[in-house]
Amino acid sequence: MLEGLQHLLELQRLDSEIVKRREVLAALPAKRKQSEESLAAAAAGLEAARENLQSVELGQRSAESELQDQEALLHKLEGQQFQVKDNTAYTALLSEMEHAKEAISACETRILEEMEAIETGRQTLAEAEAAEHDTRANVERERVEFAERQQKLEAELSALEAERALVGPQLDAKMLAVYERVAARRRPALALVSGEVCKGCRVGIPAQNYLEIIKGERLITCENCKRILLHPDMVQSAGGTPLDSETRSETPV
Ligand SMILES: [Zn+2]
Repeated sequence: MLEGLQHLLELQRLDSEIVKRREVLAALPAKRKQSEESLAAAAAGLEAARENLQSVELGQRSAESELQDQEALLHKLEGQQFQVKDNTAYTALLSEMEHAKEAISACETRILEEMEAIETGRQTLAEAEAAEHDTRANVERERVEFAERQQKLEAELSALEAERALVGPQLDAKMLAVYERVAARRRPALALVSGEVCKGCRVGIPAQNYLEIIKGERLITCENCKRILLHPDMVQSAGGTPLDSETRSETPV
């Protein structure tokens, strides 16, 4: 069996755990941002609904005030009907009264429309308030969750890194150097062979290399993906944890 294989497998396991946590940690700021943005969007929606309602209410008040003015004007004109002395003035008065009546009718239509708009605006506002309330509760819960998750991940990471610092030096220096070199470019750095094929990149291995892997006297790396190649029997007899079956497909560096 390859000497130091157990340590190598342990290193790989620790690295894989470390990488997983680092990835989750690295994704946290974007998730936080997304969460805060959803709250900002809900708050903006609420503000827009408030402004809309204010604007239609203002429109209704202005229509009502114009209605009063036109009604007062009509009343005044009606009062003048019996004071006009000639036909020309009377015709002009009738025309003014007609205008006032049209304006009153237009105001009444506008008031009805504004009332409908107010009804809709109130509903929209109520919905926006509920949405903002729910989003706020959600975001506040997520803030706590993110903080807890970050704390947990950081604690796990420092424990794993401490463990890794102990395992590394137990390996032969050359082996460790090979592993570190591969791991810097490829995760996972170890790959199983299946027949004469590297399972990391699914490219064939030269027969001579395959024989050396089975002999287990030295580290053999894949000529294509540069991963350290291991035979499944060796890994099993080393009592190692199974390697990540799904190695990421990457183009050769
Ligand atoms: Zn390979």
